[in-house]
Amino acid sequence: MVIERPAHIPADEDFVLPPMPTTLNPPQEEVIWDRLATIKGKYAQAPTKILEMSSGGQLWLAGLPTAANKHRFPPATLQIACFTERPEERNGVVLPNALLRRFPVAVAAERAEAWKDLWPLILQSLYCGKVIVTHCIAGRHRAGGAAALIRAVMMGETLEDASDWIAQRRDTDVPGFCRDKEAAKWLQEAAKSTKRRDRWPRPSGYLATPRSALHLQGFKQVPLCMHHQKSDKAQRLTDPMFTEDGDEAVAWDRPWCRACLARAPASWMPRDAGSE
Ligand SMILES: [Zn+2]
Repeated sequence: MVIERPAHIPADEDFVLPPMPTTLNPPQEEVIWDRLATIKGKYAQAPTKILEMSSGGQLWLAGLPTAANKHRFPPATLQIACFTERPEERNGVVLPNALLRRFPVAVAAERAEAWKDLWPLILQSLYCGKVIVTHCIAGRHRAGGAAALIRAVMMGETLEDASDWIAQRRDTDVPGFCRDKEAAKWLQEAAKSTKRRDRWPRPSGYLATPRSALHLQGFKQVPLCMHHQKSDKAQRLTDPMFTEDGDEAVAWDRPWCRACLARAPASWMPRDAGSE
């Protein structure tokens, strides 16, 4: 695999890349991208908006958020780190109020499973008008590939069209990332096979009975997990407890309904369960 050196990135003192901790032991497939992120200079790029929906949902592509630059980021509900560790382990930060998810797109053994879990969350978050930030270290290869994949599926574009569109607005190198042939093949297949489903209702509160799981309400007394897109056969819970207050819902001490969470935007995702 021959990889070109990254182009020059303009100096922006807020975006100085912190040194990688020497104790870090990333998977072999990530080492080359870590090295390329810093080989030509110590700067990442400021965040770039690469998708905006009529709902207000936005996707941004960025380098590593740090204590020094987090004020330069949009108010993200979902932060997608495109490597194996948590950002803090790489001297980065989780953005204020953001739900962190990791998407190690360079790691063959992990990316497919991670994407399967992540995609519904991305889709519902964009449909519900939320802001998503995807990043790696410099924001050129791994997060560039992930961002191109998301844009391709949302816009119905090919992966090439999406990556070209991004490259016209930001210094990215998705073709460089795609010199890893396995990664390129996976991205292509994911862009083709990932579907934009009909959207689920925006959650409007929490529902539970003394014996049920803790559900998210779609429409009145209908849990998201029981909502049907194309029929009115949705079941209602009988005499459920209802609240709009997440702390109160958690105090009911019912286990989370995983099926409801799989249909929810990041803003409704519990930070203490199904979170990292
Ligand atoms: Zn449910």
